[in-house]
Amino acid sequence: MSGALVKTSDESSVTWLQATPPGAFCALFVLAHPDDEAFCLPLITAELRGGRTVHVVYLTDGGPRAAIREAESLRVLGRIGVSPERVRFAGREQGWPDGGLFRHVDAAKAWLARELTAMGPCARIYVTAYEGGHHDHDCSYGIVCALLRDGLLAETTCLQFPLYTGRGLSGALFRCMSPIPENGAHLVYPLGAREALSAWSTTTAYPSQWKTWIALGPASAWAFLARRSIVLQHVDPARVTQAPHQGVPYYERRFKIPLQTVLEAVKPRS
Ligand SMILES: [Zn+2]
Repeated sequence: MSGALVKTSDESSVTWLQATPPGAFCALFVLAHPDDEAFCLPLITAELRGGRTVHVVYLTDGGPRAAIREAESLRVLGRIGVSPERVRFAGREQGWPDGGLFRHVDAAKAWLARELTAMGPCARIYVTAYEGGHHDHDCSYGIVCALLRDGLLAETTCLQFPLYTGRGLSGALFRCMSPIPENGAHLVYPLGAREALSAWSTTTAYPSQWKTWIALGPASAWAFLARRSIVLQHVDPARVTQAPHQGVPYYERRFKIPLQTVLEAVKPRS
């Protein structure tokens, strides 16, 4: 049973959940990698139940196992009712590699702007959070920020959902689905018990990524099964002029991608 969005932060600070503009019948999920949808499947289901046409785009190519990863994501999305023709693997189509989105931010932004025009008015865009976890996630967020700065999403509510972050931790330690305070006020999307279990069970639906999910599966159990919610925060274009948080981002510790490289990729163009 899906819950409605519930305000849990200071209500006066949550002014950004806009009413759905008339005629906006789409919801768009901007993801970096095939399997990122595992962190937001109940939101996709909620949009479908709300009568929206759900589009999902992946901005990187999924790496050497791209075809297998795409098939896994299409299977997961298909099970909840997303039509395969509304899923675009832009990263593979355009040659934007897994781990290398920071080199293609401008091209990806231009591609997404064209897609949005073809799609029609979007009620909501959901994007991977700016949290210093994976650099492709932060760059995806930066791309949505660039569209906002260009005024292309004036009537669209843009929301970020957390995947993983190493804020306040060291080495390979991370937190899963945990919003960082630097991203501001938050909303909670509560999950019913069966819905939460179903969402968490999906973490086993990516056998090609077992090395990743052997860590993320247990790490996401608390959010899905104990907290039973997905937390959302506003997309604020000003955020990409700053580091996601103090300290060394997880992507720098784990993947050796410097913070400055990502900041340079997502910073506003003059
Ligand atoms: Zn990812």
